Amino acid sequence: MKFEEIELSGFGKYPKAKCKVTRPPGIFDINEVLKNNSVIPRGLGRSYGDASLNDKGVVSESLLMNRFISFDEETGILRCEAGVTYKDLLDTFVIRGWFPAVTPGTKYVTMGGAIASDVHGKNHHNVGSFSSYVISFKILLASGEILDCSRTEHSDLFWATVGGMGLTGFILEAEIQMKKITSPYLTNRSIKLKNMDELFDKLEEFDKDYHYSVAWMDIVASGSKYGRNVLLLGNHEEGSGLPDKLKLRSAKKYIEKKISVPFEVPFTTLNKVSITLFNSAFYMAAKNKIEFVHYDKYFYPLDFILNWNHIYSKSGLIQYQLNVPEDKGKEAIDKVLKKVVAFGGGSFLAVLKKMGDQDGILSFPFKGYTLSMDFPVKKGVIAMCKELDQIVLEYGGRNYLTKDSIMDEKTFKQMYSGLWEKWMDTKIKYDPENKFTSNLARRLGLCPS
Ligand SMILES: Cc1cc2nc3c(=O)[nH]c(=O)nc-3n(C[C@H](O)[C@H](O)[C@H](O)COP(=O)(O)OP(=O)(O)OC[C@H]3O[C@@H](n4cnc5c(N)ncnc54)[C@H](O)[C@@H]3O)c2cc1C
Repeated sequence: MKFEEIELSGFGKYPKAKCKVTRPPGIFDINEVLKNNSVIPRGLGRSYGDASLNDKGVVSESLLMNRFISFDEETGILRCEAGVTYKDLLDTFVIRGWFPAVTPGTKYVTMGGAIASDVHGKNHHNVGSFSSYVISFKILLASGEILDCSRTEHSDLFWATVGGMGLTGFILEAEIQMKKITSPYLTNRSIKLKNMDELFDKLEEFDKDYHYSVAWMDIVASGSKYGRNVLLLGNHEEGSGLPDKLKLRSAKKYIEKKISVPFEVPFTTLNKVSITLFNSAFYMAAKNKIEFVHYDKYFYPLDFILNWNHIYSKSGLIQYQLNVPEDKGKEAIDKVLKKVVAFGGGSFLAVLKKMGDQDGILSFPFKGYTLSMDFPVKKGVIAMCKELDQIVLEYGGRNYLTKDSIMDEKTFKQMYSGLWEKWMDTKIKYDPENKFTSNLARRLGLCPS
């Protein structure tokens, strides 16, 4: 098997590591690699930090394993290989009236990556995360054995693998339940809100009426503008209410248009002034309205700008995503925001969502509120994030592993206390020699000792 030695990173471009990368076309080749190396599976590298890096072994990409295997038009059950992406699913199935029941904010994610991070969408509080729609998967173990895992078969491995960050084995195929839709459009209601009190009230008020909800917050504004935000609430449009023009478009193949950030922008152009201007402009332009929005614009606005991570310069960005329990969620998020505003190194708009419960052992979600923010990597940012960690810990919250690049082992083990130990029992049972490992696993102590 040939390896390419390249400097690799996640989507945040921080950290970077020299890794040996291979793109096996099938199981035989992964087994060959496993004989003499430790391995971390990789999809499209849309995790932000070091989850799919392994500078002490091999990074094994799933991208050639991208075939659809079967689809049942009656039940909406799809079987496909792990390298199939959300984009593949959407391009093939929306026109046939089926949609992924849970989708992250980019369609450049593989099914293997979606299972390993147990990704969530804007509907987590209503339907849970991706694993809720994963019926079963086939996984290649370190021993070379292939197991079928589901809620009833090898269920310990099923629950350790969803959200398990690729550390239990290589997911080869999955069986996924799709959702029936009657149109590619959503009805979106935008509500412009002055502060966090208004936001938390509205989230409660509209909880049951809308399948999707998410708020974009200006986390640079201070004083009377502190906590201002725009709440977006959505439902799949059933089709009958659509104007004729959109009904016609729904029946045609969708062709997306993109613009690109062609090179890394020098850091000086992305400073407090430009970020403040961007956040203000977004808030000012927002209007209270109800409109029909195509799914591509609704779910994947950032995908319209190819390589948008380039705007954060060569040093990259840290995406910090926390989840805090519901009862004191507002108080915790207020403390976090005050620290970010005081730091003044704030990011573009932050995203706040309501979360429900989840069963995966290391799955990020639990009933509460999640906030995600981007920070350009620069002086003081890591120290500030470490202070945020302390607030998250104080409120019994946790950070999302697929976004993380800076947490230390002690903080991780406090945040996932009681969970990482349980996960480790299963890891030792199926991978006692720690063949599946990554830079993230070594940083957080997710390796058998
Ligand atoms: C713009 C943007 C928006 C996003 N929005 C959201 C969001 O709304 N919600 C959310 O939950 N996430 C979100 N994410 C994060 C993203 O969904 C996850 O990081 C996802 O896991 C990336 O999938 P990938 O295929 O790129 O996997 P990679 O980034 O390559 O890998 C991620 C993890 O999956 C493991 N993995 C990959 N393939 C396999 C396999 N075949 N077998 C076993 N393990 C495997 C890797 O080892 C690694 O631990 C977003 C990311 C971006 C860039």
